[in-house]
Amino acid sequence: PERAARVRSLIRDVPDYPDEGILFRDITPLLADAAGLADVVDGFAAMAQGLGEIDVVAGMEARGFLFGAPLATKLGVGFLPLRKAGKLPPPVERVEYDLEYGSASIELRLGTLQPGSRVLLVDDVLATGGTAAAAADLVRRGGGVVAGLAFLLELAALHGRERLDGHEVSTLLRVG
Ligand code: 5GP
Repeated sequence: PERAARVRSLIRDVPDYPDEGILFRDITPLLADAAGLADVVDGFAAMAQGLGEIDVVAGMEARGFLFGAPLATKLGVGFLPLRKAGKLPPPVERVEYDLEYGSASIELRLGTLQPGSRVLLVDDVLATGGTAAAAADLVRRGGGVVAGLAFLLELAALHGRERLDGHEVSTLLRVG
């Protein structure tokens, strides 16, 4: 609870960014704070304890990389970047998903995920859940097993959790 309060105090709420009517949660003050950054990584490691064996951590571009890689070293496992389309050399597995306007794709470098590996997926914010659902799909298609998904902040009003039905979802903080 003390950790959560400290982390919460380091997230800045920015109204009307990037578009009017959107309340953006800016985590850069949290990243810049030594104790806050450690709190997040420690919090993710504590979540991982309840998920059984974790073979690898995967992070969603770009902010999932910031927490996913230090978490992986803490757990003593490797890290897989799930990248936006066009950033990884072939061969890749790709999943396309819908955004509010248009669509996006994420990719995984084939051959980096061992068949049957238990994967912990990490990102900063769970909003509508579209990105995370696509990431889970990508891991499955790449031959992995989604052991769980961990987020720093859940925006509960957007019901992202419902799109991740059937998965273990853990969040450090939750706001309406
Ligand atoms: P979703 O697909 O759940 O709607 O959106 C989640 C993705 O968008 C995550 O990769 C997350 O980094 C980003 N995102 C959405 N809203 C916010 C926000 O308010 N703050 C931050 N830092 N990232 C956000």
